[in-house]
Amino acid sequence: MPQVHNWQIGRDMSYPHEERHPEWQFALVFNPNRCIGCQTCTMACKSTWTFSKGQELMWWNNVESKPYGGYPQHWDAKLLSMLEKANPDGQVWDATEKDAENKPYGEFSGMTIFDAAEKKPRPEGPQQALGYLPTDDEWRSPNIHEDTAAGDKFKTEGEYGESTQLPEHKIWFFHLARICNHCTYPGCLGSCPRNAIYKRPEDGIVLVDQSRCRGYRKCVEGCPFKKAMYRPESRATEKCIGCFPRVEGKDKTISPTGAPAETRCMSACVGKIRLQGLLKIEEDGTWAKDPTNPLYYLIRERQIALPLYPQFGTEPNGYYIPPRWVPRPYLHQMFGPGADGSIEQYSCPDRELLAVLQLFRAERQIVFRFEIEQGKKVGEIEVTMPNGDSKTQELYNDTIIGFNKLGEEVARVAVEEPTFERPAEAHVNSI
Ligand code: SF4
Ligand code: SF4
Repeated sequence: MPQVHNWQIGRDMSYPHEERHPEWQFALVFNPNRCIGCQTCTMACKSTWTFSKGQELMWWNNVESKPYGGYPQHWDAKLLSMLEKANPDGQVWDATEKDAENKPYGEFSGMTIFDAAEKKPRPEGPQQALGYLPTDDEWRSPNIHEDTAAGDKFKTEGEYGESTQLPEHKIWFFHLARICNHCTYPGCLGSCPRNAIYKRPEDGIVLVDQSRCRGYRKCVEGCPFKKAMYRPESRATEKCIGCFPRVEGKDKTISPTGAPAETRCMSACVGKIRLQGLLKIEEDGTWAKDPTNPLYYLIRERQIALPLYPQFGTEPNGYYIPPRWVPRPYLHQMFGPGADGSIEQYSCPDRELLAVLQLFRAERQIVFRFEIEQGKKVGEIEVTMPNGDSKTQELYNDTIIGFNKLGEEVARVAVEEPTFERPAEAHVNSI
């Protein structure tokens, strides 16, 4: 296989195709610290794209309760155990040597799904990516084990632990929202024997050419995130299309001037956990330095938003701010060694970071650039850091302003939310 560079694992790796990069890359940041599991995003997607015959069990967007939930069931546990077998020395990271550009989280020294497929051929013959085909049963429940917690009590009381208890929560779970990651090195694309899957050169969105697909389901097997889905009615694979008409700025009600807009699932998010963007990619595949792009800022500049299972090797473009209350070994496995630094920052965000975090769900058009107007100091709070230390957080009522691709101002949010008192004469229940 050709060698390609994967910055998320800090090294070159095998991939079935030569390196090639889009001009812009569709990317997203999700903040599970804020997700309430309401599934509004899931239904926004379903009612837009997958409401037809044969798509009943197709959830391009899903939100699963971790650690037990998964759609399809056990998707990550199964793949991780396959990777574990392929990596007898463990899925180890060397985080001692880092550099912000090429190896921000250090170097993953285990095998990715592509390395493993090449070096450990399966008995039925060589494959392009390590993977498996979920059973029909595993696709049946979009959110099995919803809100089921794990923790110390899990081992002794009841099969799946008990509900949370006062005065402190000894058990944990969190909502993991997922869509296709429109990966830089997609497992689905690399596994397709018909070359029916392609990555759009203009925005990196990964699509399936329905006229070329013959329904072999190698993509379903090869996507480690199980986001390529087979439709029996058409005998072809379908997957998240990144709401590309919106990204192209074709929805005039949202983007009257034709600027790119966020997807349906992002726009609908009640918990304000989602921020979508487009990142400029240089010809050699590196990200054009742009610290005023909110996604570049959160992912590269601050390294607070981390890739999902970077060790799989697909360079996913879905990034997450890890939930603070979850045991660290679980987070290290899911988001890599950057989890500690991310939680440290999120526990007590500085002035600039706090302002950028206000941009989540501030506007349906994609924000390409932000500016911050400084406001006055409005308070101080004592924060308990993850190691138990106390820290003082100074709060400033700064205003963040977001601009669309055309440079038009589309968002203006202050750190301190304004409050309004309704006139008593107009509302009988006013106080
Ligand atoms: S998440 Fe899966 S379906 Fe989406 S691009 Fe990556 S490998 Fe393909
Ligand atoms: S709409 Fe937002 S808060 Fe609700 S489940 Fe989806 S990601 Fe979570």
